[in-house]
Amino acid sequence: MEPTYERERRAALAAVREASRLCRSVQGRLTPELRREKPDASPVTVADFGAQALVCRRLRTDFPDDPVVGEETAEALRVDAALRARVVEEVARAVGEPFAASEVVSWIDHGAARGAAPRYWTLDPVDGTKGFLRGANYAVALALIEDGQAVLAALAGPRLPRAPDAEEEGVVFVAVRGQGATAHALEVTNERGVDGGVRLRVSRQDDPHEARWCESLEAEHQAQAFSAGVARAMGIRGGPRRLDSMLKYALVARGEVELYLRVPSQPGYREKVWDHAAGVLLIEEAGGRVTDLDGAPLRFDEPPWLLARGGVVASNSHCHEAALAAVRAVSQAPPSG
Ligand code: AMP
Ligand code: MG
Repeated sequence: MEPTYERERRAALAAVREASRLCRSVQGRLTPELRREKPDASPVTVADFGAQALVCRRLRTDFPDDPVVGEETAEALRVDAALRARVVEEVARAVGEPFAASEVVSWIDHGAARGAAPRYWTLDPVDGTKGFLRGANYAVALALIEDGQAVLAALAGPRLPRAPDAEEEGVVFVAVRGQGATAHALEVTNERGVDGGVRLRVSRQDDPHEARWCESLEAEHQAQAFSAGVARAMGIRGGPRRLDSMLKYALVARGEVELYLRVPSQPGYREKVWDHAAGVLLIEEAGGRVTDLDGAPLRFDEPPWLLARGGVVASNSHCHEAALAAVRAVSQAPPSG
């Protein structure tokens, strides 16, 4: 019998919902003491650590043998008592009960696994921390990987409209390989926390000229001139929709845009599994396609590194070949300016 992943699906959905509650609460009252800089100068907040603690707490209880490759480690908390205290406080506030600091640190440590494993979880507790700090979009992203492929995804967008035309914010997307992808309200709406959800489908647009596209808001995170060149080569007239985090994958999956391009601006930058796995499965299960610039599927065999040559092209599938052809054309003749 094929695995159904029902236990994993329920645990992942509950975990990202709980972590999102913490993130929403922290984002609503951000002050400088809640943020720090990592050694690579990127920002990190109490919410990043708190969300990782909550997701790992649940995964360690429910699936103790599965490694968790999360973005954060507890190193900073060991040397920064004030930060540790704030994280412990936020976790307690989100769950509604107190915890020992050592316990919270041990959950975060549980998510610091690295290296290949036949089955592992990957977690970005706050993807798009820069958006989170700006009061804008961010995601809580969790995926289960088996044999180098994503088989289950739970991706929360606490600031994303629940549906493309909705005013209310807060949505969580779930996908299971072979079983489709659905969108659910972020807040739990019934006792068991599971509703049927709304089926995700990519757009049917098959005219590349009409493709809508998205990219990162952060110019340092990708080569925006390259993406603009690809869009021009495809004959697209419209400009990009820019937003933070992996929710760009969700925009393709729910048919709001046809294309997401991500080509690193720094040649040495290596993409991480936690920034992509959940989004990739969401698009594939919604009928779309995600490849590297050579048209090969992304692989997650060597965490934390994403195996993708040159960058990522994600689409509704109908516009994919046109996008890859445009990528080849622009790679051979880089746009001027
Ligand atoms: P986005 O919100 O799409 O800009 O992507 C956020 C993610 O970009 C973060 O989670 C980082 O892991 C990743 N990131 C950080 N620096 C870079 C970089 N130089 N190039 C590409 N991605 C980066
Ligand atoms: Mg990230």
